Amino acid sequence: MSQTTASSTVSEILASLGIAAENPGAFDGSWIATQGPEILSINPATGEELARVRSAQAADYERCAAAAQAAFEPWREWTAPARGEIVRQLGDELRRHKEALGSLVSLEMGKLLSEGLGEVQEMIDMCDLAVGMSRQLFGKSMHSERPQHRMYEQWHPLGPVGIITAFNFPVAVWAWNAALAAICGDSMIWKPSEKTPLCALAVTKIAQRVLEANDAPPIFALAIGDRNQVGKPMAADPRMRLISATGSVRMGKAVGRVVAERLGYSLLELGGNNGIVVMDDADLDLALRAVLFAAVGTAGQRCTTTRRLFLHKAIAAEMKQKLLEAYQSVRIGDPLDAETLMGPLVDGGAVEDMMKALERAVGEGGKILYGGRVIEGPGFFVEPTLVEATSHMPITCEETFAPLLYLFEFDDLDEAIELHNSVPQGLSSAIFTLSMRSAERFLTASGSDCGIANVNIGTSGAEIGGAFGGEKETGGGREAGSDSWKLYMRRQTCTLNWGEELPLAQGVEFDV
Ligand code: NAD
Repeated sequence: MSQTTASSTVSEILASLGIAAENPGAFDGSWIATQGPEILSINPATGEELARVRSAQAADYERCAAAAQAAFEPWREWTAPARGEIVRQLGDELRRHKEALGSLVSLEMGKLLSEGLGEVQEMIDMCDLAVGMSRQLFGKSMHSERPQHRMYEQWHPLGPVGIITAFNFPVAVWAWNAALAAICGDSMIWKPSEKTPLCALAVTKIAQRVLEANDAPPIFALAIGDRNQVGKPMAADPRMRLISATGSVRMGKAVGRVVAERLGYSLLELGGNNGIVVMDDADLDLALRAVLFAAVGTAGQRCTTTRRLFLHKAIAAEMKQKLLEAYQSVRIGDPLDAETLMGPLVDGGAVEDMMKALERAVGEGGKILYGGRVIEGPGFFVEPTLVEATSHMPITCEETFAPLLYLFEFDDLDEAIELHNSVPQGLSSAIFTLSMRSAERFLTASGSDCGIANVNIGTSGAEIGGAFGGEKETGGGREAGSDSWKLYMRRQTCTLNWGEELPLAQGVEFDV
């Protein structure tokens, strides 16, 4: 499992993105000489150090917040299409650095190179989408009940936005938020995961070049630090009108509470526990390919990873056999090697969490059908794992961020939907069937209770055109396409009287 690189060496990739051996951890328009403890960026495929970042402290966050507040004031006066032009250039700059940035995502987070590149492509797509949206921030006009009155809604920039992101999408989630926040007229501060600081540095350096080339206000600030020094002050800061937080349910509950206390807005994108239902009339080969990508892809470290598979009893034995064969052929190793299908987990803690979950699963009556072991050697590799489960196992209601798939059996679709919906999370879901009735039943109000519901497609790999997010403990937030931009703006209802009378609404009389 030796680490090979694509065409460039690791040091070439880092150098081309402006990353040194030691780096400052905050940017407010200039790089701040942060003095917090060093964060070591570790390559999860080898356990080797890539580079170091001096973390931001609360005082550094404060500088970023003051700068974001100051940048918001001129930025909100730029026209939305002019703001879109900055985002268009950001997309172009990302295109130029796609290869290096995608490689860095793989090196630092451990996902396959094609997924790293795909993540950068998603950033580029988000920029393109946002540029178009910058000319379509539509408000509605409505007929007033009062004569000679005009009534309409308009959308204004909201204010500085705090963006908290998770390690598993170390660049794309910033872009989901940043591209939209920017065209909406907001400034922002990014607090990335401490597990992927180099990705955040590289993206911010790219954004910095675009801002400077256009003399734009420094709307893209960065503070790399821990939850106490950066995350908590940011959540509590009334200047941050919106906190967009992506991560675990535990984090979302903590952040949501603090933001609610000050009556700010929060956009929460939290953990999932995603399920696929396979009916007896499904195309099993299609289902197999989808399950494999959704359960094993990214080593089970996507919020949309399939963690629960519901098999109709009539096809359960056949599907399990197919899964066993497919799992045996998964090539595990260096994510930069084009032959690899599954890379490492992000760190030793993630390996430990998976093993603890497995121990609990077995203790609760689960049976390991495949995998279940740590792979010895450098890096944080595990076997993809299949566990035969029952609905009475509490562990199956929790998200374990690893390639661990629980298999259930059912007799009919109503039972499958009930089982599927019986967990606290509600992010992504799918059904495999060739029956229009089953497909439509899954998509009705009493069908899947998730924010995302697919037919004959796995649970992961969403497109940016649709609003992305989930229900219940997944937090209810929506990012990316559709009308998600509205969360980054404030709505104003305007009524304009161009007549000579002052009629009151609802027929109220108030004459002297
Ligand atoms: P995490 O919750 O450990 O950390 C996420 C971020 O929150 C990090 O930047 C962390 O420093 C910060 N944080 C943690 N506690 C905080 C607090 N009290 N105040 C402020 N900031 C705090 O998550 P992770 O391990 O990095 O990522 C994996 C999790 O993220 C999984 O649960 C996954 O499902 C979820 N996720 C969800 C989505 C989605 O769109 N729904 C996308 C990606 C990841």
